[in-house]
Amino acid sequence: MSKLLGSIEAGGTKFVCAVGNMNFEVQDTAVFPTGNPEETMAKAIEFFSNYEIAAIGIGSFGPVDVNPNSEKYGEILATPKLEWRGFNILKALKKQLDVPVFLTTDVNSSAFGEYTKGAAQEDNSCVYYTVGTGIGGGAIQNGEFIGGFTHTEMGHAYVKRHPLDADFKGVCPSHGADCLEGLASGPSLQARTGLRGEKVGEEHDVWAIEAYYIAQLAFNTRLNFAPERIIFGGGVMQQDHLMEKVRAIFKELNNGYVDVPNLDTYIINPAIPGNGSATIGNFALALRELKK
Ligand code: ADP
Ligand code: ZN
Repeated sequence: MSKLLGSIEAGGTKFVCAVGNMNFEVQDTAVFPTGNPEETMAKAIEFFSNYEIAAIGIGSFGPVDVNPNSEKYGEILATPKLEWRGFNILKALKKQLDVPVFLTTDVNSSAFGEYTKGAAQEDNSCVYYTVGTGIGGGAIQNGEFIGGFTHTEMGHAYVKRHPLDADFKGVCPSHGADCLEGLASGPSLQARTGLRGEKVGEEHDVWAIEAYYIAQLAFNTRLNFAPERIIFGGGVMQQDHLMEKVRAIFKELNNGYVDVPNLDTYIINPAIPGNGSATIGNFALALRELKK
């Protein structure tokens, strides 16, 4: 049997494990809820033990130490998921499976998937955001992730409040009311409307508020990184009408100042179907690690 690549998308609510061939085609997957660290990692390792795995890419929820020079490399840091705090996901895997492993954040993995085989495959740079239970972002320039001593935290950006949203307290426990994640993640929609985002009708005022925050994020991203593509994934961005609203507000915020490509192809949803960006990214990162 020829060797395969492994992917672990270690999310806060579920783990998605996959094996793929050297063309990044998925051969098998296993999805299970994120339980306690030992049990959850045991399930992942059991899944991979059915295959001859050459290398693995992990995209993890965070914060996680992704600096190979750090003493805590591989450790989950100040997550609200208390039992995972201080757990070293990389060591746990390496103890059982002695193969090259590349570890990064879940959103960096998704960014890398879109960069390799998705919406940014023709580009040398892109920024990927997920707007779901939380908000996170990953940025790539010439095949490398932006980030220094550790990974970026672009989802907790400071944003200007929408005038109709002045009294909303936000849902970010760390940064209070002006944090993007607190104001625009899926749970913030529910906190305002009492309904999960999926159930909030297109005519609801909350979408203008949501678009205002996401547009600020997109605009600041253009200013800060000038990437060739800005990609928005995650459950909330599945609202078809939202992207148009974001592009319109982006245009207003820019007011003709900086050059931007055609917004219809500049600010877009992921191209890889079925939430598959992170898996493809992990395969590509695993292969890159293998070739090092
Ligand atoms: P996660 O971030 O947990 O990996 P999702 O990206 O699906 O998973 O995000 C879940 C959040 O997004 C929930 O708050 C959910 O209510 C919201 N959500 C999911 N789908 C939609 C949708 N179609 N429209 C609006 N909100 C959505
Ligand atoms: Zn925050």
